[in-house]
Amino acid sequence: MQIAKTVRGLVAALGLATTVLATSASAQTYPSKPISLIVPFAAGGPTDVLARTLAASMTKNLGQTVVVENRVGAGGTVAAGAVSKAAPDGYTFLIHHNGMATAPTLYRKLPYNVEKDFSYVSLIADVPMTLLGSKNFPPNNMGEFIAYAKKEGDKINLANAGLGAVSQLCGTLLQQSLGTKFTAIPYSGTGPAMTALLGGQLDVLCDQTTQTLPQIKADKVKLYGVTTKDRLSYLPDAPTLNESGLKGFEIVVWHGIYGPKGVPPEAIARFNEALKAALKDPAVIQKINDLGAVIVPESQQNPAALQAWLSSEINKWAPLLKAAGQYAD
Ligand code: ASP
Repeated sequence: MQIAKTVRGLVAALGLATTVLATSASAQTYPSKPISLIVPFAAGGPTDVLARTLAASMTKNLGQTVVVENRVGAGGTVAAGAVSKAAPDGYTFLIHHNGMATAPTLYRKLPYNVEKDFSYVSLIADVPMTLLGSKNFPPNNMGEFIAYAKKEGDKINLANAGLGAVSQLCGTLLQQSLGTKFTAIPYSGTGPAMTALLGGQLDVLCDQTTQTLPQIKADKVKLYGVTTKDRLSYLPDAPTLNESGLKGFEIVVWHGIYGPKGVPPEAIARFNEALKAALKDPAVIQKINDLGAVIVPESQQNPAALQAWLSSEINKWAPLLKAAGQYAD
């Protein structure tokens, strides 16, 4: 998470300049009606939780309701496609994670261009992932999980929220590192996957702390490890996957807000201002901290920082995904 901050710091100055310029334009009439914030996964999951936390606070700031809508399908690409084709009037935005950067490599025929068909609002927060087992899944710790995974392979059910989801990305890297193949169980988001894990219908789930931390603290799941480079201060006993023998394993889930290409700069600036206010709202900060997420520094809460980070992430994941042989037509 520290590394992400340092790399992104390079674009901070440019981003700030863009925001100041845009804010100077008049935005008196915007917004004059509710704004849709599209979540590409099912309600109740980590992306949805983050969206609803922000929407409640942004609604107060904007004086208009930010309505969270779940548009599920194809690992987030259905929602991204819909937003890329929405009217660029400042009333439709998308909240998305790393999937925005992995989709161009994963999908041979993506019906939109992530670098050409969107406008950018801001980076939001970084979230670690956790590797979990259901309470009735035999392994009790990471060492036992690795041994069991290598032995039982496809008898193990592993959730994913579609090609492009970070749960799927985590599963891909996990199977590649272990040299084993699990049985993939697709869900419309990891909210429903968590319900299945808690009910014992699913064996393994890799998911953001924004959903998993409360279940870990309530001892309703088995925690095997974390996907960050270093251990997490709030889960000190959980090993990193890297230190457990999965060399170089690291996923941090980052989030951004996008609009269709061509949203007026005044609307982008006003929505960005409301987002920045939400990220300073004590209730939002408390909730985000409680869920193990880290709000990006203010210098990264702007369109240019998101745009630059998105392209760097496209370049980062492309070779890794190609090596893993993950594609959809
Ligand atoms: N955690 C999910 C994913 O795998 C998305 C979600 O349901 O929020 O990408």
